[in-house]
Amino acid sequence: MKTYLNSFSNLFFPAICTICKLGLADGERSICISCLDDFPRLYQAEIVENKFKGQIKYNFAFSMFMYEPKSKLSLALKSLKYEQNKEVGLVLGEKLGNELFKNNLLNQVDTLIPVPVTKQRLKQRGYNQAEIICNGIQKTNYISIENQILKRNSFLKSQTKLGRNSRFENIDKAFYCETSTIENKKILLIDDVLTTGATLISCAEALYRAGVAEVSIATICNTV
Ligand SMILES: [Zn+2]
Repeated sequence: MKTYLNSFSNLFFPAICTICKLGLADGERSICISCLDDFPRLYQAEIVENKFKGQIKYNFAFSMFMYEPKSKLSLALKSLKYEQNKEVGLVLGEKLGNELFKNNLLNQVDTLIPVPVTKQRLKQRGYNQAEIICNGIQKTNYISIENQILKRNSFLKSQTKLGRNSRFENIDKAFYCETSTIENKKILLIDDVLTTGATLISCAEALYRAGVAEVSIATICNTV
């Protein structure tokens, strides 16, 4: 019945690739294989590691792709954030999950925590894109997700109006943990894009204040 309904809806809304708008083949979801293969891989791990070295204690910091404005990958992320396209987040999360598993990184953590969005943003969007990515990772290898512990304050000034240094200070008070049920756990923080690292550093600090044993970081992509 489900298949019948799917093919029925495909008659009117054929499944097309989010990026190139061509029809999807069997087994492809949201992004076609050809577009996925065009995402530029990030091979220099130190680019990511250098954003955290000396800033916080961490086990590993991993990013899968390089982010470039107006690239195919940027279209995919735009669709996840602004077009209610959760499926694209699941596909990217699954890819990240497989990649983490292949590199023996998933077995080094106990729990995934998505970088939270503000309450206003959550209301507006209806979901947290980092949490959708966590759901994708969980589909490849079961691992628990804690989405109620790390919280984001909403009262802070807009980041874009501040300089780089004050941006770090501003973000520093942006995150806190509601309970300490994550004490002694090894946490993997998940976000879509890694820019300066300030947000993730601030999240990690809030987690350490709540008594976690170790924080690691993984994102879909990294901006150089
Ligand atoms: Zn495509």
